[in-house]
Amino acid sequence: MSFNGLHQMKNLKAKKRRVKVKEFNRLFWNISHTKNGFSPTKNRIFYVIHPLRSKSNQVHEFFYIRADSSSSYKLHLFLCRTFARKQRMSDKRTEISDLGEFGLIEHLTKPFTMHHSSSLLGVGDDAAVIDIGGDDALVVSTDLLTEGIHFNLMYMPLKHLGYKSVAVNVSDICAMNATPTQITVSISVSNRFPLEALEELYEGIRLACDHYKVDLVGGDTSSSYSGLGISITAIGTVKKDKITYRSGAKEYDLLVVTGDLGAAYMGLQVLEREKEVFRANPNVQPELDGHDYIIERQLKPEARQDIIGFLAELDVLPTSMIDISDGLASEVLHLCKASNVGCHVYDEKLPVDAKTAMTAIDFNLDPNTCALNGGEDYELLFTIKQDDFDKIKGNPHMTVIGHITNAQDGIYYIDKNGSIITLRAQGWKHFDAE
Ligand code: ADP
Ligand code: MG
Repeated sequence: MSFNGLHQMKNLKAKKRRVKVKEFNRLFWNISHTKNGFSPTKNRIFYVIHPLRSKSNQVHEFFYIRADSSSSYKLHLFLCRTFARKQRMSDKRTEISDLGEFGLIEHLTKPFTMHHSSSLLGVGDDAAVIDIGGDDALVVSTDLLTEGIHFNLMYMPLKHLGYKSVAVNVSDICAMNATPTQITVSISVSNRFPLEALEELYEGIRLACDHYKVDLVGGDTSSSYSGLGISITAIGTVKKDKITYRSGAKEYDLLVVTGDLGAAYMGLQVLEREKEVFRANPNVQPELDGHDYIIERQLKPEARQDIIGFLAELDVLPTSMIDISDGLASEVLHLCKASNVGCHVYDEKLPVDAKTAMTAIDFNLDPNTCALNGGEDYELLFTIKQDDFDKIKGNPHMTVIGHITNAQDGIYYIDKNGSIITLRAQGWKHFDAE
């Protein structure tokens, strides 16, 4: 397609409108089955993919424009036919939920090969690792938070959201045993948000930058049709011989977790409950008394940057490490898969705060199930050699919850009765069919 063609199309007064893929297919079907493809009637409405707008090949957004001259009409015809061919070639449709989040990532990224020897590690860990010469490496990680999926602005203040979006990225950098240094922040915003709202968001981002000592060095801004999206990329540095990959766990290593688990999940349950009460009767004040700790763990989690310092002071280099964003069970499975090992995790060892446990019981939930499967703790899960046990013994920030076995032994959870259960992840499943 000629560049001129694109300009012509831009110059037409195009009215933007969203149509569902299904609706588009139906409309397109009707158009493409009229006699001779298209009727060249002036002022006829055509649906075309706008090539400048469609950054990816997803066919979600279209322009409908009036064909008001023969030259612009030709352009439409060309575009639509291209699309028609593509459609026929790919009749197959696979639901993303069939693959799951991690299956999807693996499927999409498998065909890629590295072009640079400086790309020490690509997809598959908490952050990519890039050789910058000398003893140091850069680590890079990105996280995307989407309104309605990762946060609900009914109870998530924008300042907290700004803080949290930085914290979750810093957490991935910490999981590599690295020190975060810079972030970029990209936002997509609908016109529902005034300037003041974005100022709040950025105030939270600024507070987190000060807290974690990272510099905001760029980003991108776009409008959106539906709500708010925030994508942050964090960069950090680490000595090459101190990097902790997910893949380094060895048989007989001890499995250690920091802080306590399940609190963020229970905080979310309380917030969701109060949201429903508020929906039913906006005059009722939310009952959040006594839930400060768990609500803070949900709304303003902290990355465990302090642990990186403690480990260095204790002279402990974990053999592997991952941060807990999707729930302990899910992360144990990732770590074991990456390291090609098995493990035993002991129910009685899981660190659960008393307030989390009490709230879980109120909700008729088993506290340890929340610790295992509740997400967003942003604690660190790591393995250490048995010889290092004395260095962390009694440390209030670290709890040994199990040990590593060989891969053939499998990945097991030992419950309160001593029964051995295969460990499964029931963490977040964003791609489940609705
Ligand atoms: P985390 O939970 O630590 O943020 P994720 O589970 O989001 O990690 O991602 C696992 C790995 O897959 C990471 O290496 C990440 O960079 C990579 N990844 C995730 N989504 C994509 C994508 N759309 N394209 C390429 N790589 C991706
Ligand atoms: Mg992570």
